[in-house]
Amino acid sequence: MSQYVPQAGGLRDRAEAGTLVGPPRLRHPSARCRPRRVAMLSVHTSPLHQPGIGDAGGMNVYVVELARRLAAAGVEVEIFTRATSASLPPVVDLAPGVLVRHVDAGPYEGSAKEDLPAHLCAFTHGLMRTWADRRPGHYDLLHSHYWLSGHVGRLAAERWGVPLVHTMHTMAKVKNASLAAGDRPEPAARVAGEAQIVADADRLIASTGTEAAELIRHYDADAARVTVVHPGVNLDRFRPDASGVEAGRTAARARLGLPPDALVPLFTGRIQPLKAPDVLLLAVARLLQERPRLRERLVVPVVGGPSGSGLAEPEGLQKLAARLGISDVVLFRPPVEQAQLVDWYRAASVLVMPSYSESFGLVALEAQACGTPVIAAEVGGLPVAVRNEVSGVLVPGHHPADYARALGRFADDPVLSIRLGEAAARHARSFGWETAASATVDVYTRAMAQRQYSRPLF
Ligand code: UDP
Repeated sequence: MSQYVPQAGGLRDRAEAGTLVGPPRLRHPSARCRPRRVAMLSVHTSPLHQPGIGDAGGMNVYVVELARRLAAAGVEVEIFTRATSASLPPVVDLAPGVLVRHVDAGPYEGSAKEDLPAHLCAFTHGLMRTWADRRPGHYDLLHSHYWLSGHVGRLAAERWGVPLVHTMHTMAKVKNASLAAGDRPEPAARVAGEAQIVADADRLIASTGTEAAELIRHYDADAARVTVVHPGVNLDRFRPDASGVEAGRTAARARLGLPPDALVPLFTGRIQPLKAPDVLLLAVARLLQERPRLRERLVVPVVGGPSGSGLAEPEGLQKLAARLGISDVVLFRPPVEQAQLVDWYRAASVLVMPSYSESFGLVALEAQACGTPVIAAEVGGLPVAVRNEVSGVLVPGHHPADYARALGRFADDPVLSIRLGEAAARHARSFGWETAASATVDVYTRAMAQRQYSRPLF
């Protein structure tokens, strides 16, 4: 059977660059377009790191969950990440069909993400050496995550003759357009690097339609090469207690030592200005001014550790709580493994995410999957993750008074949390990682097919 090539933007660009010849070509009879093995690049942060602090967060979870599901669907994954300790073994088995390969590039410890562009050459060298030791065609495709990996991916994909699929996770121009007051903007080198990746990648995966539109608007991405794949949530791990949302909440609170009848607005994730945990604290202070008696039944857990520009003042949030006179109600806890995070989600009346920018916001899905509604800023992917007035409340802007008002609704009506929480659990069920992995395999297949179609038959 013969079939014509769909004319897509990636081809157009290469044709313009002179590396491809014009019209659509017949499909080669032996064309094999489903990948068997993918090299995944996660240069700046390892899938083995604990998320919720430093550079480890949603992207680490994304890479692990996606890789596991790809492997389960028959696509082997090798994840290349920078070695951050001399004691790390070169290769770690993460799951059946998923390997993590540690690449020596730059000093093991003490390198900030901002220092890593200087070590990308060394990383590329390490990647190339691993590739050179394999038989030809070992990797069918490269999938890079975040711009630092995208840079390495561009070079490797060209040398290996395989397609490059890239997921941004966050974009400098988008972050810079909505910085928290006084936060450090992303550097011009990152903006330029991201533009090069967008121009070169065979396919770009965006987490939401909003992110796809941002890629097109800010980076002039070719719409034909952008595919929206919603991230998922591990529904085996994040689910309501078997006894139901309400009984599960009481049980989780007992395990965590929280009062059964308290209003518990939870913040979890990397603590940095972009995530706006300060807005939650300011809202709590305001709420307590308006309703002093609420103090007896208010607990505000903040689970996570400093990250990004938040590292400049790691105790900043504790100091703010003290200044606001609310240290007695705020409970600071270091990051915990996801198995333990389940209890924090189940125990909470509501998860609060006043973020300035969020490409998706996995914690929003995880909380909902556990039967907990979310108060979220109406930014980035959050309007996809949270259904306004169904599974949570979306707040336009970042004014603490608006968040105080939203919290007040949960204080006034304890049934609201249960009602929205039950709907939230139903909403989250449509975001399984299997769906995300299967859509990602489609993107890989299309990227490979495009390469096959574009090769002359003879
Ligand atoms: N997380 C965790 N332990 C913690 C806090 C957070 O494992 O104590 C995980 C959480 O389960 C989520 C990720 O960190 O999967 C944060 O992802 P999100 O997309 O919300 O934020 P990002 O880090 O990507 O900005």
